[in-house]
Amino acid sequence: MRHRIVAEKLPDGDTLKEWHMVRGDEQLTMCGRELDPAADEQSDEAWGTETAHPFCHTCGALYLRETP
Ligand SMILES: [Zn+2]
Repeated sequence: MRHRIVAEKLPDGDTLKEWHMVRGDEQLTMCGRELDPAADEQSDEAWGTETAHPFCHTCGALYLRETP
């Protein structure tokens, strides 16, 4: 299953709040948030790097648990 990293923006729609992990083609993030379908995305290979910072703690913990 392919994971994606999706951006959550502040209400101004421009400033990054944090990144979340989404499983495959699911709509909700792993922590249960529904984000803008047009939000910025990156590959889960960016997980743990500066590119995906700050990162949602809940998504990070869940991702670690299901990734070898
Ligand atoms: Zn999250």
